[in-house]
Amino acid sequence: MTRAYNFSAGPATLPEAVLRQAQAEMLDWNGVGASIVELSHRGAEFMAVAAQAEADLRALMSIPDDYAVLFMQGGATTQQALLALNFAAPGQRADYVVTGHWSKTAIKQARPYVDVHVVADGEAGGFRDIPPRAQWALSPGAAYVHITANETIHGVEYRGAPDVGGAPLFADFSSSIASEPIDVSKYGLIYAGAQKNLGPVGISVVIVRRELLERAGQPRADIFTYASHAARDSMLNTPPTWNWYLLGLTVRWMLEQGGVEEFARRNAAKAALVYQAIDASGGFYRNEVAPAVRSRMNIPFFLPDEALTARFVAESREAGLLALKGHKAVGGLRASLYNAMPLEGVQALVDFMADFQRRHG
Ligand SMILES: *Cc1c(COP(=O)(O)O)cnc(C)c1O
Repeated sequence: MTRAYNFSAGPATLPEAVLRQAQAEMLDWNGVGASIVELSHRGAEFMAVAAQAEADLRALMSIPDDYAVLFMQGGATTQQALLALNFAAPGQRADYVVTGHWSKTAIKQARPYVDVHVVADGEAGGFRDIPPRAQWALSPGAAYVHITANETIHGVEYRGAPDVGGAPLFADFSSSIASEPIDVSKYGLIYAGAQKNLGPVGISVVIVRRELLERAGQPRADIFTYASHAARDSMLNTPPTWNWYLLGLTVRWMLEQGGVEEFARRNAAKAALVYQAIDASGGFYRNEVAPAVRSRMNIPFFLPDEALTARFVAESREAGLLALKGHKAVGGLRASLYNAMPLEGVQALVDFMADFQRRHG
């Protein structure tokens, strides 16, 4: 068996060690005579798995005690609607910074529930930069300010949390969570679907300052209420136990590898390799994002024409480099370099890029 290097944007590559452990434990978890996925979520075994995953994620991200950590279904997109329902009063305004595709999705999901105010929009510039903070027209009395920490499709990423004054900062960290140290206390709410950097699809993580859970929000069912999920340790209904377990193994692996400081180093080195390969190609490969906000996680890049792009996708797949085709919204190519992508994979990619240019440039 050979495992290829998988550059998929999500669901994405997982650490081989995690897959091997899951495989070894598949039929009999910890000697109980059943798979973890066959056990009750309220039994002692799964409760221990769930609690350990939360404790490990808290340790990995240095999450303060006054933040609740929720493990939920529905993906990041569902959180984009729920956060508006839970934290904005009917008719209240909320501020959104638009930096790419996922910012627009966040607005689309929230608009039925809040008066969306776009404080800055990078679309006119082709989403090649993040509009400077000094130009954001923040609203007094906004329920929250929403940003997309890393734009998975357009490849732009914030460097640190912007200061937004009094309103709590809400951030979609789906494609960059746990990729470097962040100061959680600068955010009111952080959410992420797990399938980019934390594990498998089917579970998302919400990290929310507890005092925000006291907000009334809008009329809604209990199952859509973050405070209810928090009060029941994310077991208001049957949680996605298999995904929670795999997320726990992935987080544990990240801790064992040296934590977010180590991944920040690795991710910076990996991204530098690819950007250098692009920038040194004399225009054969192009990435047009402003260098100061280039994503470390998702690198969109372009060849001179469609025929070469199709050829690159086919030949790279042959060479054991998977899923380098760009998102259909922007075309071209994209390399996603999440925590589980080893440096060797990125080295193989830049070697392939150089070889491809020699043959076709
Ligand atoms: C993938 C992604 C989403 C959507 O996640 P789902 O789990 O499919 O709902 C939202 N935001 C960002 C930044 C993403 O990368």
